[in-house]
Amino acid sequence: MTAQSTARVPVRSRYRTTLLALPARACTAALVLLVMTLRPGLPSSVAQEAMQERPQGVIFFIADGAGSATYTLARDLLREQEGPGTTLSMDADQKGSVITHAIDSRITDSASSATAYATGVKTYNGAIGMNPDRMPVGTLLEAAESNGWNTALISTARITHATPAAFSSHVPLRAQEEDIARQQLEQGIEIMLGGGRSFFFSPEEGGQRSDSMNVVAGSGYQLLYTRDELLRATQLPVLGLFSDGHMAYDVDRRHTEEPSLADMTSWALERLARAGRPFFIMIEAGRIDHAAHSRDVVAHLSDMLAYDDAYRAAAAFASTRKDILLLATSDHETGGLTLGGEWEGGGSGYRYNPVPISSSQSSIERFSSQYAEWAKTPESLRMDVMNALAADFGFTPGEADTYRMDRFLAINNLNGLRMWLEDLLRDGMAQRAAVHWSTSGHSAVNVPLFARGPGADAFSGALDNEEVGRILSVLMDADLAAETEKLRR
Ligand SMILES: [Zn+2]
Repeated sequence: MTAQSTARVPVRSRYRTTLLALPARACTAALVLLVMTLRPGLPSSVAQEAMQERPQGVIFFIADGAGSATYTLARDLLREQEGPGTTLSMDADQKGSVITHAIDSRITDSASSATAYATGVKTYNGAIGMNPDRMPVGTLLEAAESNGWNTALISTARITHATPAAFSSHVPLRAQEEDIARQQLEQGIEIMLGGGRSFFFSPEEGGQRSDSMNVVAGSGYQLLYTRDELLRATQLPVLGLFSDGHMAYDVDRRHTEEPSLADMTSWALERLARAGRPFFIMIEAGRIDHAAHSRDVVAHLSDMLAYDDAYRAAAAFASTRKDILLLATSDHETGGLTLGGEWEGGGSGYRYNPVPISSSQSSIERFSSQYAEWAKTPESLRMDVMNALAADFGFTPGEADTYRMDRFLAINNLNGLRMWLEDLLRDGMAQRAAVHWSTSGHSAVNVPLFARGPGADAFSGALDNEEVGRILSVLMDADLAAETEKLRR
């Protein structure tokens, strides 16, 4: 634990304990007062009014790993393509920002931050639905189910990955994805769409469960494997598993096989609306983060644009009703992305432009998986690589150092060649846009927070991640303390 977080804990713990002790449903007025005491900067009339709203549908978007620079990068590209003044679909809804740190680290991981959003409790890195003492704590999704709401989870990552897991399961460590899969199927969730097929099936059935179980059998879920199957499905509950692992980056997506994030969002909202009950849905763009970890600016941008499309679809849905709260933020920033800066031979620091990377047709991840195939026939590897560099990444013959490539090939160091090519692509694409990554991990900066609809004004200002969860629990009449008690019984 850092010195800073030790100093902070007593204040935060007092707040958490006080709120946990209150049955949310009975004490709305008290909670409004508490939240106002915590956030003295907020005009009381706005807070009071917002906290008394009761949305009948809550759509919670999480852009995993997207910081302010990610939004700027995507917006700047759209302005180049569609004209000055073009905005991202969420721009008009910006309310404030989120302070994301974990209880044991100034830099959070997805598990800790998503748990804070899902439960209103700030916790340790790696925790899934657990408090700092490794005890399970009730989630918004569980409370929504108890209140008779329909619920849904969507992610472009594995559905068992940290963010969706934190809303729907309780394990001490995020890597326990086999346990997470089993717990998710027992929550009564109406819609789950994403990747992660392998954690639901035995190795004989193409999965990788160490207990050799098929945990979907007998669960009552209709299984969907492709975009077409999703678009044809009409019954709930459904479990859409569109990939063994994470779904593809949007730039790599095979459109007939994998649905886009917007496809999944529109489909789910239509079904939830048709079901006629209040609902809670969490929608994660899970791979904005992965692209930043890999310092792949093309994949990062592609998944941010796909996220923008999904938010636009949800906003269009929400605009047909007055009772939908749309909330959007990130769990943390990844990559320490900066837009601008010096590159060798690139001139001044004021040279930044997303346009040169927008025509790229592939992520580095896809290039590497293709490389593994090409490497099976080393005679044609050089030609395959040169073709892909030109066609997918727009490299001119002079840009790829063919002398270096031939040296790797001469000593048959195919693994070394692959790593060198990956670095060439990382640096090449970043240099074209003149952007920089400062880390291959997460960073500590605040992330933007957006909201529209009933209760939206309650999210103004700079909020800690667990405060966002707490405010949501009030707006949703979600009795998190009762859920926690249930879990511990
Ligand atoms: Zn990450």
